[in-house]
Amino acid sequence: MPTIIDGKVVSQKIKEQIKIDTQKLFNEKGIKPGLALLLVGNNSASEIYVKMKDKTCNELGFHSIIERMDEDSSEEAVINMINKWNEDPQIHGILVQLPLPKQINEFRVLNTISPNKDVDAFHPANVGKIMIGLPGFVPCTPAGIMELFEHYNIDLIGKHAVVIGRSNIVGKPIANLMLQKNKNANATVTICHSATKDISKYTKKADIIIAAIGVPNFVNGNMVKDGVVVIDVGINRIDDPTSTKGYKIVGDVEYDSVAPKASAITPVPGGVGPMTIAVLMKNTYNSAIKKYEI
Ligand code: NAP
Repeated sequence: MPTIIDGKVVSQKIKEQIKIDTQKLFNEKGIKPGLALLLVGNNSASEIYVKMKDKTCNELGFHSIIERMDEDSSEEAVINMINKWNEDPQIHGILVQLPLPKQINEFRVLNTISPNKDVDAFHPANVGKIMIGLPGFVPCTPAGIMELFEHYNIDLIGKHAVVIGRSNIVGKPIANLMLQKNKNANATVTICHSATKDISKYTKKADIIIAAIGVPNFVNGNMVKDGVVVIDVGINRIDDPTSTKGYKIVGDVEYDSVAPKASAITPVPGGVGPMTIAVLMKNTYNSAIKKYEI
């Protein structure tokens, strides 16, 4: 039986520590970490994500704001809102929930966030710091995966890690983090994507697989070798007439065929997902104590 990498347990521990540190920061310096959340439009999934982040802020003793803007808001109005928060000393982290409505240029908006308040780490300054291995904000999902490796003593040094997916949010940054020349990384990394020919040729040789594709059950048992460590980032909704909701959430990995061959594996849900919010909170706390000020 593989080790089940339990993101719920690890994220809970991280949040408990942040709660203690936050109380101490407030008692000693009168500072509360502050997170501003911007939601533009009527995307129901985004509404759920933003509420979850706000709820976690409240649980940890953070100051938080949710600003909701109409679907037809202009790019200028969104940028003005971000600039206001850039100047607000009570706000240490700014998060723009993606996707944005189509009239708004995502790059220009993310580029407006001060790199010192960029807790999602999408600003080019922070992306660049990850590339060259400088300390700074790290995108929440990849950083959460690295926390899971550390917690479960999964050694990456000299291992062959295969990342499937090359998004700016998950695939590229996790590949970069595993590639860093330090004791928590130092893996040999292969990145696969939609133009890769015969992905199983790579996954069959992988010691570690990170699946960040967005295709339900993409990786199956025939594609992996015995003893592989599998991190399933995917969150996919598929029809399930047996469920009262009519659907269920599955990952990018076919758990039932892969788990018997794996030495360790993340479930979906309950693996990578809970880590993402925990790291967002950690990034906001670190911003409040100016750990990564440029
Ligand atoms: P994305 O931006 O859509 O990127 C998907 C990547 O997978 C792309 O690089 C794409 O290749 C590649 N891909 C798609 N179909 C493929 C195929 N058939 N064969 C090989 N590669 C293929 O997605 P993302 O934002 O990285 O998210 C990936 C998954 O993770 C989604 O299910 C998302 O919901 C989930 N997610 C979970 C969390 C969490 O907190 N757990 C956070 C973020 C995302 P090309 O570049 O060639 O198009």
